[in-house]
Amino acid sequence: MTEKLLTEQIKRLDDVRANYEEITENIALAAEKSGRTAQDISFLAATKTVEPEIINYAISLGLKKIGENRVQELLSKYDEYDLAHADLQFIGHLQKNKVRQIIGKVSMIQSVDSIKLADEIAKQSVKNNITTDILIEVNIGREESKSGVMKEELDELIQKISVLEGIRIRGLMSIPPICDSKKEISKFFDDMYKLFIDISAKKSDNVNMDFLSMGMSDDYTEAILSGANMIRVGSRLFGARIYR
Ligand SMILES: *Cc1c(COP(=O)(O)O)cnc(C)c1O
Repeated sequence: MTEKLLTEQIKRLDDVRANYEEITENIALAAEKSGRTAQDISFLAATKTVEPEIINYAISLGLKKIGENRVQELLSKYDEYDLAHADLQFIGHLQKNKVRQIIGKVSMIQSVDSIKLADEIAKQSVKNNITTDILIEVNIGREESKSGVMKEELDELIQKISVLEGIRIRGLMSIPPICDSKKEISKFFDDMYKLFIDISAKKSDNVNMDFLSMGMSDDYTEAILSGANMIRVGSRLFGARIYR
């Protein structure tokens, strides 16, 4: 490595360290403001486009959860992640025909929005003698371009999935629309929290509302204040990406 490259790499790691500290401090502050502690909030790093060495550096700082959103990328990086110290999850849109490739490799799939996808996850999990944890993705902003189930269809989907073997519902996930103000986005987060509480209250068999995964780089504080207990942060930790 040339000196210039080495200097750049050191700068990059320093940035990740400073960002990590800033985010964990903000998490603690927002958690306290909402009557909880930092330990109640899971910080998952969205690692798309990030090299394994950088991801593992973040893990060495204390990061416990990472999430990929492309199957191909996850598989190509899989052998290099420090999975002895962190948990790997799948957070992106998942095609049914690719489920087989990640079952047993990820501890949770956050983006389940149809019975067809859930069926395949269940089937492949049973084949591998495991149970796969999932979150149901909700399209809280009713955007045609986005994945996720509409909230009117949520109960029925949960009911159908809850009877399947090999799969276990652990909560909800959402990516709200891009908003102009914090106030506007908080409304979507509040709507999600309400769904989360309503479903928890039903106490259905095989349905656990342990995780409410929402909030990304620009809005994770608002998400926590609205009741999120898992945030997914990418660019604020690792720096800007070329693609989203
Ligand atoms: C990329 C990604 C994130 C994080 O996005 P940032 O804005 O970079 O924090 C969160 N969730 C999902 C599903 C993602 O694909």
